Amino acid sequence: MIMNEPANVEMAGINPQALRSGKTHVRPKRRMTVRTCADGVKRGGFAKRTPEEDIAAFHNGVRQGSAGECWPWQGAAILMGNKSGGKYGIMTFMGKPMRTHRVAYMIAHGLKPIPVGLVIRHTCNFGLCNNPAHLLLGTQQQNMDDAQRDGLFATGDRSGSRTHPERRPRGENNPLSKITEQDVLEIFELRAAGMTEKDIGKKFAVTDISSILNRTSWAHVRIPVKNQIDKAAAKMLHRKNNGAAHRRFSDDEIRLARNLSREGFTVTHIHRQLGKSYSQTRKIVHGEVHTGIV
Ligand SMILES: [Zn+2]
Repeated sequence: MIMNEPANVEMAGINPQALRSGKTHVRPKRRMTVRTCADGVKRGGFAKRTPEEDIAAFHNGVRQGSAGECWPWQGAAILMGNKSGGKYGIMTFMGKPMRTHRVAYMIAHGLKPIPVGLVIRHTCNFGLCNNPAHLLLGTQQQNMDDAQRDGLFATGDRSGSRTHPERRPRGENNPLSKITEQDVLEIFELRAAGMTEKDIGKKFAVTDISSILNRTSWAHVRIPVKNQIDKAAAKMLHRKNNGAAHRRFSDDEIRLARNLSREGFTVTHIHRQLGKSYSQTRKIVHGEVHTGIV
């Protein structure tokens, strides 16, 4: 046995047994309690750990790095929440199963119990980490806000609506739906044939035809290629239907727009009044185009 171990080894939380053997994780022997029962049979089991043994068991399970590093738990871990939730170290502490980061926080704060309703947050977002410098006391709401800020929630292609589409009532399976998949196909067919959104809306008694056509709603319905709306073509169609807005300003309209602006009317008001596009109206009012007309 090596004597004269540096006095600070135990203080630094390093298991001297582990240090000697060169292993990072050595489980200390657990004490047994044995009693002889009335029938003469010896019965026993593991003795309850003392607080000192609990703390030693904790330090034994942590791979302690430098002050700034994460100190991962080497022992048993549990997965919290769903798949996007993290792994946490788990151990028996003061006779109860506890997540090790909570143990780490308590040990670092004089073994004071963590107030009921409060959580220990990881500033490093690494659930297995037990570096007390990475642990903060906070509310569950703060924890959720942190996760949101750090992008830990499943959104986009990781979201439930993408990974488990069958769990959401879409289209006809949605009890609120007013139309059927067949209607959606017909809507695209009518649109391709030139019927306006407004008229289609009337026919199906649905107000938001555009969200169907731009594939925001009923996006799971496959539309035959011939009826699919080509983005460029759709834009042209829009321009044709809104021709007035894109027709040139006449000289009189240019003067009128500028007069209205001088009288204090906003660009929004003027473009609506004249039925012209907002951007063109703004350029004219601001004197960026047609500067020759006064
Ligand atoms: Zn950490």
